[in-house]
Amino acid sequence: MRCPFCGAQDTKVVDSRLSGEGDQVRRRRKCVVCHERFTTFETAELNLPRVVKRDGSRAPFDGRKLRSGMMRALEKRPVSTDEIDSAMWRIQRKLMSSGESEVPALRIGELVMEELRQLDQVAYVRFASVYRKFEDVAAFREEIERLEQQPTPEAKRQQLDLLQELELKP
Ligand SMILES: [Zn+2]
Repeated sequence: MRCPFCGAQDTKVVDSRLSGEGDQVRRRRKCVVCHERFTTFETAELNLPRVVKRDGSRAPFDGRKLRSGMMRALEKRPVSTDEIDSAMWRIQRKLMSSGESEVPALRIGELVMEELRQLDQVAYVRFASVYRKFEDVAAFREEIERLEQQPTPEAKRQQLDLLQELELKP
């Protein structure tokens, strides 16, 4: 494994453990030349379906794009990287186990929303508002009201966060 910092050929594994839900191996590596550390993930290679976009065009599944979309929704939220990795992994596993060779982009968005709903409701609403392009304020309010029907202390705290966030916007 080549060092991503200096390009040296020789890196040493300093730690190795299972992650995700046990179907990933996470390795900490150290470059023997520049001593930088980095992490690699090893997973079984399985084919993910191609993505059919709204305009009908097809593209290969892009895990990085999916991840960056989730990260944007989760910005400054109290959700750990491990939790995000697990969510990503569950989404990909669902896509693989569907057995389909193509999947609509819409379906991926729904899987992301399902995961975000469990992880963090603020992130969920952020993602949903961009993804579904709430057509008007009423639709957005409806979504908030739906969330309010689950009045756990955590949900209430998150709604406060969300309201503050909305009020801060111009
Ligand atoms: Zn190096």
